[in-house]
Parts: sequence; structure tokens; C-alpha cells
Amino acid sequence: MNDAQQGAGQGREAAIRAALAPVAGDRVEGVRLTENAVTLVVEVGGLDDGARAALEDRMRAALAGMDLPPLRIAMTAERGPEKPKPRLIAVGSGKGGVGKSTVSANLAVAMKRAGCRVGLVDADIYGPSQPRLMHSEDKKPQAKDKQLIPVTGVLDIPMLSMGHLATPDQAIAWRGPMAGNALAQLIEADWGDVTDLVIDLPPGTGDVQLTMIQKFKPIGAVIVSTPQDLALMDARRAIAFFDKAAVPTIGIVENMAGFACPHCGEVSDPFGAGGAEAAARELGRRFLGRIPLTMTLREESDAGTPPAAGSGEISDLFAELAGQVMAFADSVNADADTAKA
Ligand code: ADP
Repeated sequence: MNDAQQGAGQGREAAIRAALAPVAGDRVEGVRLTENAVTLVVEVGGLDDGARAALEDRMRAALAGMDLPPLRIAMTAERGPEKPKPRLIAVGSGKGGVGKSTVSANLAVAMKRAGCRVGLVDADIYGPSQPRLMHSEDKKPQAKDKQLIPVTGVLDIPMLSMGHLATPDQAIAWRGPMAGNALAQLIEADWGDVTDLVIDLPPGTGDVQLTMIQKFKPIGAVIVSTPQDLALMDARRAIAFFDKAAVPTIGIVENMAGFACPHCGEVSDPFGAGGAEAAARELGRRFLGRIPLTMTLREESDAGTPPAAGSGEISDLFAELAGQVMAFADSVNADADTAKA
């Protein structure tokens, strides 16, 4: 077939689609025209036999006047149109205890308040804390067609955690591959209309993280660090790890920076100050902000009422962080759209 014929063929396929649109709506998934046949792939999920036959009659009638080769109609019912998968945003740290889970929960809450259809996965399978942070300890996820259905936490955010599925003692016994499979079940759950999934990674740069990022390719990673030198060394290692896996670093958040004494109000810096910002600059990464060490943050987190859901300084800081993360996610989409065009 030469170019002109091919072009004409594509024009006729478009004409066939246009003729079918009034009778079949968006059920026509594919139109292929060759010299010997027109093949239509039609999605008929939800229609009984009578309705399918009637749809076929209407489609044949709609094309009757077009002088086409014989019509073949393939009906597919099993697969509906594939749901787009949510984008994954990883929250990682080089070591435990720096506030990665606290930041993940509050980031998800702030994104939700900013209008994002966000979900949360607690991938910290050996020390899951999101059920407590997001006030969903007592919920049990159901499964449908071998797929988990997320529970909801604070602000009705869909979420899943190993804490919802296994006791800590059970999870502790898992070896790498089992842990990786468990994680896959959480990420491949039925997330409905969620567009962005915040993933609270296990601390460190071990097998579970590697499996996860290789398999699921997050669009970017937020690194949480305290201002301590040692923690920053670990943060550097986390950045190197994401670099190696070609996962872009969205930026570094400094947590537990500057302690305001609840009695005298004096601000001190138990873990030093500005270390993460300097490190971000040195490593050419974006500095995403500084979350102070406060008693209320710890108390509210422990009580399952993330401060990002309320008002005040901490809530504002997380709103700012969410804005930066969402802008990053949108820029990745824009790049993908440009690449497609
Ligand atoms: P990770 O997930 O990195 O192990 P967590 O988020 O579980 O760390 O935080 C460890 C502990 O520190 C928790 O008790 C949490 O409430 C507390 N915490 C985290 N960030 C802050 C903060 N900015 N101010 C006060 N306490 C904090």
C-alpha cells in the first residue's frame, strides 16, 4: 500500500468511527480497514445478549450505505477500558525515626485539602504507623477479584497499610521477596479514581525499597532528614539510591528543625539548623522546607489527628510542601504529554 492509499484508509476508518458514534457511543475501541474486511472491536460490558444483538444491528445499519468490505465485529466484555494507574510519589529517608511517616501522612492530608485525589500506601511493612497516624487502626480492607479495596483514613483519604493486614510479629518474619509481594498487593489495589499515591517507604536503602522502585517506578521521591550530620549522611545515601534507580528527587524536607520551648518560648536547635538546606544546595536538589520539632505535632500525630488537617503554622508548612509536590507531579505529566505529541 502506498502512502496515498494508506492516508485514504485512515480517512475511511475515521469516517467509520464517525458513522458509528451516534449508535455505539464510546463502545467502539478499534476500527481496522483492509481490502477484505472491516474489523470493529466493540466493548459490550454490562449488556445482555439481546442488547448486544441490537447494538450489532444498529452498527451494521449505520455503515450500510458506505460501500465497505464485509464487516467483522469482535465483542469484548471482560476488560472494560483500563483505569489509569495512579502516579506514585515516594517518601523516603536514609534511616528510621526522622519523621518520614509523619511527613507522609501530613503530605497526603495537605494534598487532599488542595483538591488532589490522593491515596496513601504505608510501605513500611516492618513498622507500619499509618493506621495510627491516619486514624484507621480498626479498619480491615476487603478484597474483590483478588484485589484489595483500600480503607479510608482522616479526610476520607483511601489508604492501605500492612498494619491493616498483618500483626507486626507476622511481618517481621517476612523475607525480601514476600515483603515485595505484600507491597505489590497494596500498590496494585483498587484505588478507584485516585490520581496520586503517596508511598511511605521503609527507612533505608535495602531490598524492599529497591524492588519497589524498580517495579513501580515512582515519578519522584521526597527525602526526609533531620538536621543532624549523621541523618544527612543517610539522606545523601537515599538520594544516591534514587539516582541509581533513575527516580528523580523532588527535594529534601528538613524535619525536627528548631525546638520552641513550650514553657519559655525560646527556640533552640537540638539537632542543629540549616543542615538539610545546605546539603540540598550542595547536592543540587530542591529544598522543600523545614518542619519544626513541636510537642503538638507529636501529640496530634499520636492521637490520629494530623496537624495538616487543622490550621496554624504546621498546617501551613505542609500546605506549602503539598503545593511543591503537586507542581512537580504536574510538570512530569506535562513532560509526558509533550513526549507523546
Ligand atoms: P519515621 O517514619 O521516619 O520512622 P516517624 O514519623 O514515625 O518517623 O516519627 C518518629 C517519632 O517522631 C514519632 O513519635 C513522631 O510523632 C515524632 N515526630 C516526627 N516529626 C516530629 C516533629 N516535627 N516534631 C515532634 N515530633 C515529631
